[in-house]
Amino acid sequence: MSETQSNSHYPTLLQPLDLGFTRLKNRVLMGSMHTGLEDIPDSHRRLAAFYAERARGGVGLIVTGGFMASEFCLPEGIEPLFRDASQVSRHRLITDAVHRHDSKICLQILHTGRYSRTGRALAPTAIAAPINPTVPIEASEEQIQQQIDAFVEFASFSQQAGYDGVEIMGSEGYFLNEFIVERTNRRQDAWGGSYEKRIRLPLEVVRRVRKRTGDRFIIIFRLSMLDLVEGGSTFDEVLELGRELVRAGVTLINTGIGWHEAPIPTIATMVPRAAFTWVTARFRREVDVPVITSNRINTPEVAESVLARGDADMVSLARPFLADAEFVKKAETGRADEINTCIACNQACLDHIFSGRLTSCLVNPRACHETELEIAPAQLPRKLAVVGAGPAGLAAAVTAARRGHRVTLLEADSQVGGQFNLARRIPGKEEFQETIRYFTRQLQLLGIELRLGKAITAEDLNNGEFDQVILATGIVPRKPDIDGIDHPCVAGYVEVIRGEVQIGRRVAIIGAGGIGFDVAQLLSSESQAENQDIRSYLWQWGIDPELKARGGIEGVAPGHQVSPREIFLLQRKQSRPGAGLGKTTGWIHRAELKQRGVKMLAGCHYRKIDDHGLHLEVNGEPVLLEVDSIVICAGQEPRRELCTGLQVPYRLIGGADEALELDAKRAIDQATRLAATL
Ligand code: FAD
Ligand code: NAP
Ligand code: SF4
Repeated sequence: MSETQSNSHYPTLLQPLDLGFTRLKNRVLMGSMHTGLEDIPDSHRRLAAFYAERARGGVGLIVTGGFMASEFCLPEGIEPLFRDASQVSRHRLITDAVHRHDSKICLQILHTGRYSRTGRALAPTAIAAPINPTVPIEASEEQIQQQIDAFVEFASFSQQAGYDGVEIMGSEGYFLNEFIVERTNRRQDAWGGSYEKRIRLPLEVVRRVRKRTGDRFIIIFRLSMLDLVEGGSTFDEVLELGRELVRAGVTLINTGIGWHEAPIPTIATMVPRAAFTWVTARFRREVDVPVITSNRINTPEVAESVLARGDADMVSLARPFLADAEFVKKAETGRADEINTCIACNQACLDHIFSGRLTSCLVNPRACHETELEIAPAQLPRKLAVVGAGPAGLAAAVTAARRGHRVTLLEADSQVGGQFNLARRIPGKEEFQETIRYFTRQLQLLGIELRLGKAITAEDLNNGEFDQVILATGIVPRKPDIDGIDHPCVAGYVEVIRGEVQIGRRVAIIGAGGIGFDVAQLLSSESQAENQDIRSYLWQWGIDPELKARGGIEGVAPGHQVSPREIFLLQRKQSRPGAGLGKTTGWIHRAELKQRGVKMLAGCHYRKIDDHGLHLEVNGEPVLLEVDSIVICAGQEPRRELCTGLQVPYRLIGGADEALELDAKRAIDQATRLAATL
């Protein structure tokens, strides 16, 4: 593809960026993501395969996951990578693999500061972070010099290993960021006190790295443009640091939004697309190096419009490259509708990392498993029927067809998507529609025969048409055994989400799992569109759109959305409602419902339902909830009636196999792995 051709689709996005000593082939940066592969000994081949696949997919510049700068970030006895000279040749595997595809790659140097989970953390001042019980050690002058040396040695190591540059992590509340703000830096020596002294450390690191690596090495500084914590920087201070960083020798400045401890969602699915590029735009006007923007940019259209209106010189997309390694190539060749879009669920990426598991992707289980989950041509192509076009059936059908099987997909509904057609109706989960769009397009491209609108019976499959059947028929919502469960005020979540029943002003929701929370979100929202608007998002979370408040939030009261209903969200367990939700998103769901006054009750024992409402005991005390409507969200059972009488060999996947704790991540992963072996 020639440059002129490629530029016709997304002219700004696909334009090269001249950095003087080197040129990036487009404006797309794959942002740093810790995958967990960095922590596995001898995983260079897996990392090389992971990055090579993204480089082959056309990305201009890759930033690796963070590599730890200092022993204070690593478990006792483990040395930072740069101290082991034998690692240079191993990292050559990664850089060579990327360079073969004409992409560039920078290594991110990360010093975790007081966020270190190793039990010993180093910070400017001995103040523990609210999200980490470890009280950090206050760094001595000698220790500060050692940390600077570590950044410099790591940069030099990266240069020897063939990296095109480094990204110095200076945002998200990590070590360098901690020196910058009074919240975490109370020193009165040469590294604290005035702003000038607080920014001395990041500037010293950049100057020394530039001096060591010379003029032809990319230095990206990830700068916290909006801390979103009390006691953070003002925007004027951010601009001052930006100008000083340019003088110190950075090549590019990347946007950081929000510290890890900030109680504000910045990348989850309810955050509107491109919600923070206006911050980068304000910065870019004042600072004289190319600037990269980030956060919730997940389609080429959004990326193009952000760049075309001048908000930034480059866009950083991270999770979208887990979802689809070929994001850029598809955009270049006019195939954006074939992109497997990141739905910002965090379920297989951030949630995994925060619970010590390897990163992957809900919509693409091959991410970070490239060497192990191969989709190779089938040795014996067969005629397969896949029954049920929910996430499991769609993933199985598409994977099997890619391998050369002849696939027929049979779905009772008039559309594909299964329960994702319910999920996408929840305010803040509109992105789930993208997964349905992606699979629909793949069905067309792969020539999968789609038969909609008929509930399939065993007889339909026993006619010799198919060699094998995959049953992906999903679930049946559980109907709990409560006296009065058939009362007219009771409705199931499916009918409620589809808008098929009228729901009154006082509502009890039985079951506080993921679906109970989603139903509470739906019933407490005024309209489905409210979460899509950047202004209302900023208002809801108390972020100053004028950038006058310190840290972007100080003195700004969050706006409280008012629920049109009084809602009770109930569970039998004694544990905190929502405790089982995603590690990185559960707190957001709880906070949103709390803002709207949803009352959550644990320890419920349901007695009966009648004209007065729901009678229950809460922790042994009798309670009557005088509600107009009761919505049942009490989990599911597998839907498997098709197995009876089926004479063709079959396999069960998704909810049809196991409904307990089933989510789309498990459904798609199981389906893809099964279809990869048929
Ligand atoms: P389903 O999605 O249930 O698909 C089964 C399909 O089979 C259906 O389309 C059905 O019509 C069809 N079918 C059944 N019987 C027949 C038959 N006899 N003939 C033909 N077709 C038949 N998961 C997450 O991971 N993250 C989330 O944030 C999330 N949010 C959710 C929000 C809501 C409101 C809901 C309802 C679910 C949510 N889920 C979420 C759960 C997720 O959607 C399910 O885990 C997933 O859809 C299960 O996939 P499946 O393919 O096994 O089943
Ligand atoms: P779930 O998470 O298993 O929750 C079921 C709820 O029903 C629980 O609160 C349970 O709590 C209650 N319950 C179970 N049996 C009951 C009974 N017999 N009588 C009364 N209450 C009963 O299931 P779900 O909410 O239906 O969600 C289905 C799947 O979709 C989940 O696995 C979830 O991961 C996924 N999902 C995920 C998200 C997300 O944000 N990641 C969102 C939506 C759905 P008690 O037993 O304590 O009462
Ligand atoms: Fe995006 Fe979810 Fe995949 Fe993470 S798991 S990359 S958030 S789609």
